[in-house]
Amino acid sequence: MVKGWGEAAQLKVKSARVAVIGVGGLGSPASLYLAASGIGYLRLIDCDTVDLSNLNRQILHWSTDLGRPKVESAAMKLTQLNPEIAVDPVNEALTVDNVAELLKGIDVVVDGLDNLQSRFIVNEACVSLRIPYVYGAVYGMEGFLTTIVPGEGPCLRCIYPSASAPAEAFPVVGTAPGVIGSLEASEALKLITGIGKPAIERLIIYDGELMRFDEIAIKKDEGCPVCSRQKPIR
Ligand SMILES: [Zn+2]
Repeated sequence: MVKGWGEAAQLKVKSARVAVIGVGGLGSPASLYLAASGIGYLRLIDCDTVDLSNLNRQILHWSTDLGRPKVESAAMKLTQLNPEIAVDPVNEALTVDNVAELLKGIDVVVDGLDNLQSRFIVNEACVSLRIPYVYGAVYGMEGFLTTIVPGEGPCLRCIYPSASAPAEAFPVVGTAPGVIGSLEASEALKLITGIGKPAIERLIIYDGELMRFDEIAIKKDEGCPVCSRQKPIR
């Protein structure tokens, strides 16, 4: 019943192949909505196991899953939610050496990561493989989102020229990744169906403390070492 959606868009959703990298706070809501929407193939990439301290926000994992690989716990829930989709759990750490292989055949990448170093690896691979990449991140009660379509707007390196050392642990109120992960799934569905206007050239900022959404216009860095020589893909 959604205007412009119909059977044609739903068939695009069914034939889509989405990778969710990290099935934690962001990846849990994102992959739940993607599975429920009928995305035909979901590749889940994560090398962690479920820890008690994850459960305030990583809603795919329950107290009965402690110690289990996250991709296994996630795949079980998503398959029960929608048995008609293919869920491919990949229990591996993403590195510069395996990223191209892990993203093979993927139409859209959804960010469920927790550090900028890994995101830079994903960003660079997505730019070179020309795969749209939905970036999401959270801290405390704040969240950030932008959609990167190679050749159409800035990439992650245009926005963040360098990464600081990853924090061992940082504060997260569980609803912040709930908000941002849901928005990431929404962007993925828009990219797949062609409906609406994705957040390209816009950094969306969610402030849960003041309950505000703001956005900053972001421009491609003409000297960006990752994307400055890319041509549009659409
Ligand atoms: Zn760039």
